Amino acid sequence: MQDTFRHQGLRKRLVRELKEAGIQNNTVLNAIEKIPRHFFIETTFEDDAYENRPFPIGRGQTISNPYTVAYQTELLEVQDGDKILEIGTGSGYQAAVLATLGATVYTIERHRPLYLKTKQLFEALNFTTIQPFYGDGFKGHPSAAPYDKIVITAAAPEIPKNLLLQLKINGILVLPLGEGEIQEMIKITRLDKNEFEKETFLNFTFVPMLKGIED
Ligand code: SAH
Repeated sequence: MQDTFRHQGLRKRLVRELKEAGIQNNTVLNAIEKIPRHFFIETTFEDDAYENRPFPIGRGQTISNPYTVAYQTELLEVQDGDKILEIGTGSGYQAAVLATLGATVYTIERHRPLYLKTKQLFEALNFTTIQPFYGDGFKGHPSAAPYDKIVITAAAPEIPKNLLLQLKINGILVLPLGEGEIQEMIKITRLDKNEFEKETFLNFTFVPMLKGIED
C-alpha cells in the first residue's frame, strides 16, 4: 500500500470541501488529512477514495462518507487520552481517525469476516491503540467500561441502554437514531448517574444497527 503525493493532494482537496461543508474542528480536519482513506477501501475504488461518498466494504456494509465521519468525530469532542468505544468497525476508518486524535479505541463488529479483515489492517498499519472485537454492539463492551465517549456508526432503532450505562459521568454518546431511510444524529451527555441530556443534530443515512452476530 502506497500513499503517493497524488493521494495527499486529493486529501487536501477533501479537507477543503469538508471545511466548506461546515466542519470546523481543525484537529479533526488534520486527522482526515493525515489518514490514507484509500487503505481502508477496495483497490477498485482507490481513485475515488477522496470523493465525499461511501463505498461498499463487503457483507452489504459501507465505509461512511468522510463528511459523516468528520461530523460524528466533531460531536465526540475527542481529547487526547480518551477511552472510546465504537459500535460498527466496518472498514476501520472511523476508528483510525479516533486513534489519530490520541484516543484508545475499542471497536466492535458483528460480521466476522469484516472483523477479521479490519483487525489485520490495524496490525499492518500499526494502529496499536485500537482493539477490535467480534460481537454485538447492543451489549457494548463491559470489561473496559466506563468510556469517555461512545460512537455508534450504524442506524440505531433505539438508544441502547447498555451503552448509556457504560458511559462515564460527563461522557458523550453519539448515534444516528431512527429505523427509516433517514436518521437524526443524536448526542447524549451523561450529566449524572441517572441524568442524561439529549441534543439533536442533522439528518444522515446509515446502514442499520442489527442485533446478534453473523459468521
Ligand atoms: N465505522 C465504519 C462504518 C461501517 S458501516 C467505518 O468507518 O467504515 C456500520 C458497521 O456497523 C457495519 O460494518 C455493520 O456490520 C456494523 N454493525 C451493525 N450493527 C452492529 C452491531 N449490533 N454490533 C456491531 N456492529 C454492528
